[in-house]
Amino acid sequence: MKYFSESDIKLEMNKEMKIIDGSQGEGGGQILRSTLALSMCTGTPVRIENIRAGRRKSGLLRQHLACVRASKQISNAKVIGDELGSSTVEFRPGDIQAGTYDFAIGSAGSTSLLFQTVLPALLMADKESTVNFSGGTHNDLAPSFDFIKHSFIPALRTINLDVEVELDAYGFMPHGGGKWTATIQPINGMGVFDMTSVGKLEVKQAIVTQSGVCRSVAERELARVKKKLQWADDELHINQVESIGPGNIISLRVSDGNISEVVDVVGAKKLSAERVAGRAISAMKRYIDSGAAVGEYLCDQLLLPLALGNGGRFTTIKPSLHCKTNIDVIKIFIDCDITVTEINDDLSEVLIQN
Ligand code: ATP
Repeated sequence: MKYFSESDIKLEMNKEMKIIDGSQGEGGGQILRSTLALSMCTGTPVRIENIRAGRRKSGLLRQHLACVRASKQISNAKVIGDELGSSTVEFRPGDIQAGTYDFAIGSAGSTSLLFQTVLPALLMADKESTVNFSGGTHNDLAPSFDFIKHSFIPALRTINLDVEVELDAYGFMPHGGGKWTATIQPINGMGVFDMTSVGKLEVKQAIVTQSGVCRSVAERELARVKKKLQWADDELHINQVESIGPGNIISLRVSDGNISEVVDVVGAKKLSAERVAGRAISAMKRYIDSGAAVGEYLCDQLLLPLALGNGGRFTTIKPSLHCKTNIDVIKIFIDCDITVTEINDDLSEVLIQN
């Protein structure tokens, strides 16, 4: 069933409860987030056990709890176990409700992962939704606001999904304080995603966004990009911003006009500017050299909307364990074929058919 394509779909609320093992595969927070999104979109009650059992501090952290509570609110769900540290959550979704929502993580946790959780359901609602997020906007190990705006949303636009985002305040770890808004339009006909090749890179940009950090740190990061990637001076930018706490993030962006890749690395106290830039440069080189259209993280994040919608085909760099785990979770809820074919050591093709 194509959940995103049949606008008059009636969710069957008496479906049997599915038991999801949160320790499978990578055993991380993605299993929880994907399960919540899929539960709401398919109207399936779920019991998620062993939540984040693969992580050092397992169970629900503040950011994961915020995802459960936000999902509860937008789908009028009945929930058991929505407490900090909880390793089991029972979630029975009701009707998805469009509206204006304010979701705060209550820490510097990633707001984009909260966005990732509620987006599919709100796309299926019958009216526009406006969601105000507060917390972290430029976190390590999560999509930054810029990744969402410049890579994820443009990819969704190619299949006619209409989401706009606007940043009001930057939030870095550990102080947070970031604020942004997403405006989500209901689905109105959805295309098939098709990105198997990448053309000449028309856009190349290296942007260091920072607050409360000496300008010379950004200059050293960009000098490294200039030297190693040979990007021109007018492709290098420093974005000195205000935030309640200090932060530094380097963002390398390329686009051929159809698909955009954003590679972000967050600066940290014990990492030299050169090492921060070096990590971003290696990841960008890997993407460019692979010839893949879709980067590692964009691949993770597109799987669910494509499986709920009309599917698609794209090339990507070798799928991670994170990606494989996500595919396994999606297949528990949706009767679709997701095949990953290895083309060479660093290039694979993903085909999603439903
Ligand atoms: P934990 O597993 O500890 O619970 P978590 O809930 O933060 O952590 P993961 O399961 O690791 O999450 O999922 C991380 C998500 O963030 C994935 O969707 C992944 O694609 C995305 N992500 C991680 N790093 C980046 C990055 N640099 N750029 C864009 N997206 C990223």
